[in-house]
Amino acid sequence: MSSAPRTHSSYTFAVTTPAEKAPYLTDRLQGFGTTIFTAMSALAMETGAVNLGQGFPDTDGPIEVSQAAVAAINAGHNQYPPLAGLPVLREAIAHHRQHHRGQIFDPDGEILVTTGATEALAASLLALTGPGDEVVTFEPYYDSYAAGIAMSGATRRVVTLRGSDFAFDPDELEAAFTPQTKLLLLNTPHNPTGKVFNRTELELISRICIERDVLVVVDEVYEHLVYEDHDHIPIATLPGMAERTITISSAGKIFSFTGWKIGWACGPAELIAAVRTAKQFLTFASGGPWQHAVATGLHLGDDFFDGYTAEMAAKRERLCAGLEAAGFDTIRPQGTYFATVDIRSVGATDGIEFCMALPHTAGVVAVPTQVFYDNEDEGRHLVRFAFCKKDEVLDEAARRLLATEAF
Ligand code: PMP
Ligand code: GLN
Repeated sequence: MSSAPRTHSSYTFAVTTPAEKAPYLTDRLQGFGTTIFTAMSALAMETGAVNLGQGFPDTDGPIEVSQAAVAAINAGHNQYPPLAGLPVLREAIAHHRQHHRGQIFDPDGEILVTTGATEALAASLLALTGPGDEVVTFEPYYDSYAAGIAMSGATRRVVTLRGSDFAFDPDELEAAFTPQTKLLLLNTPHNPTGKVFNRTELELISRICIERDVLVVVDEVYEHLVYEDHDHIPIATLPGMAERTITISSAGKIFSFTGWKIGWACGPAELIAAVRTAKQFLTFASGGPWQHAVATGLHLGDDFFDGYTAEMAAKRERLCAGLEAAGFDTIRPQGTYFATVDIRSVGATDGIEFCMALPHTAGVVAVPTQVFYDNEDEGRHLVRFAFCKKDEVLDEAARRLLATEAF
């Protein structure tokens, strides 16, 4: 686990141990630099390239929801909301989980509103793990996982997802667990690969976690973005799992308001109480007006949620067809709003070099998947493109890629 930090403009990004130390930064955070998303969006700004890097929609979410935020501000809901979140939002979260997933959570004690899923993840790791503990997760992993584990002082152990279906080897998973394993950090639908863990995989993971008495934190921020015949199965609904699982969601992802930074964690009262203790000293409370608005959103009818999935499914097809036409071997994601290509199909080998050059060769920005691995070689050939963008933006990116003679 060692690699030099990569530098572009004023940003250094790396998720593994750097060769040189960053001044002032505590040892726990050496190597984290600036996130790849910030670095790549900066590159897009500098070069004027089409930005299919950072995963944020370029259109607003439902108007009823944004109007509810404006109304909340104008109604004077502008002081600290309660630490656990507004009751009206916790009720709406309970409704959403029951209606869409059949899960029952008590708004009073089993639901905690956070400042995005990012805070829910960090607060869970800080509350539940510490030095001497180990956290198992799959690589590639969403970048804040490694940083959150590092901030808590725990040690991460990764299990690699491989092949076009991003499968894992059950023996490798079993071997990653030790007597020090405290927690498994799972993400389904999975960023950056788009994998949706199936029932067989989730049952296997559950069996091991129950046998080893390990807690689970599951990041389900893309739960409404699952395509074709794939199903999102909350691991907390499997036998023996509700009592050991914290489920994390993001209004930014559900409603395409990523700048609002409202998320939540649901789970057994004792686990949520622990996370609440950490959360209160990170931010205490999370944006009041947005909480009112998200409560409105969670009561929207199925037509909204189905329409959102259908809209992203069409964009998935649009971008994947464009990538294929440009000569890329493309992995159609089962979920999320990210598609992955194998750059060896266009004669490239190193994702970071490829993504650094792409704004110049093609006028497009993408994200090198290899930065999400401890074992970088496993993902060197993979690059992620986001398709949560206007059709004309996706078409322009596809046109530019098709017109590129050499990458
Ligand atoms: N988890 C995953 C898998 C993500 O892709 C993201 C990015 N939205 C987050 C967590 C963070 O979510 P939020 O913006 O709500 O903090
Ligand atoms: N989750 C988004 C992505 O994967 C980025 C969020 C961020 O910039 N931190 O692209």
